[in-house]
Amino acid sequence: MKKILLIGTGGTIASEVTESGLAPELTTEQLLAHVPAISEVCHVDCLQLLNLDSTNMAPEHWLAMTRCIRDNYDAYDGFVLTHGTDTMAYTAAALSYLVQKSPKPIVLTGAQKPMGFDSTDSKINLTDAIRCAAEDMPGVSIVFNGRVILGTRAKKTRSKSFQAFSSINFPELGVLRDGVLLRYIRQDCGAEPVFSETLNQKVALMKLVPGTGREQADFLLERNDALIIESFGVGGLPESSGFYDCVRGALNRGKTIVLTTQVEKEGSDLGVYHVGHRLKNDLGVLEAYDMTTEAVVAKLMWILGRTRDPREVERLFYTPVAMDILWPA
Ligand code: ASP
Repeated sequence: MKKILLIGTGGTIASEVTESGLAPELTTEQLLAHVPAISEVCHVDCLQLLNLDSTNMAPEHWLAMTRCIRDNYDAYDGFVLTHGTDTMAYTAAALSYLVQKSPKPIVLTGAQKPMGFDSTDSKINLTDAIRCAAEDMPGVSIVFNGRVILGTRAKKTRSKSFQAFSSINFPELGVLRDGVLLRYIRQDCGAEPVFSETLNQKVALMKLVPGTGREQADFLLERNDALIIESFGVGGLPESSGFYDCVRGALNRGKTIVLTTQVEKEGSDLGVYHVGHRLKNDLGVLEAYDMTTEAVVAKLMWILGRTRDPREVERLFYTPVAMDILWPA
């Protein structure tokens, strides 16, 4: 029988009603007690790492999860992390960079309704996640509402209903039907995982609205090593607001700038319009192409934790990790 480690980090799945709203209180053992039938499928041990609303998660918690997986790696066949849905896509992306090429499954799950509610997705999600962790499903993924989504491709796209996550610009890895995993795609892996232990948190994200001026970008670039700008459509920056000088100056000071799009699907293509062409071809900003913003944030923190050399940053940024970027291949 396979051995799975269930790592609790909090979220709605572990929440109870308090006077000031839902708060994570259930232990990992208490969660497991709600799905007793899983003991027929695999042996599960419990580990309580955190008990946080995922709004309170930060990169140091991603590193703590990584250390927890690393320290227990040899003793288990697979790992399930229960996690709040709000920032689960960021954590899934971060773990995809911090634990690369894992031959063992690392599955995140959670719920939109707490375990103790009459109508809840907690039981099915936890059961499905543990089943997937006991399968041949290498790498980091989110198992939620009967779907398996690649860790670098997940995005929370619904705030209330059970279908909380979508797979962006990439097919789902599989689906679960009555507890049976139908796997469509198997991630590549190595014989051993490759763990990283450093992240550079000085990565900022700025969303453009019509009329945004360069002052906000200047402010963020002064305080960070990288700035991701969520621009419009396939990508570009307003031409009349001094953005080009701001970008040129920041790149000369060794900052990293990545252009991405506010549009959820299909990604950027910065060279298409005049408003983007010069940024890419003359100034040399990077672009996200088909990556999610969550993955761009995590990838930059991982890359800038290793190097600040602009050429190496660019090389690593466009090198696919866990199928995070496919275009331009
Ligand atoms: N606020 C909760 C969290 O992210 C929401 C959830 O888990 O669904 O921890």
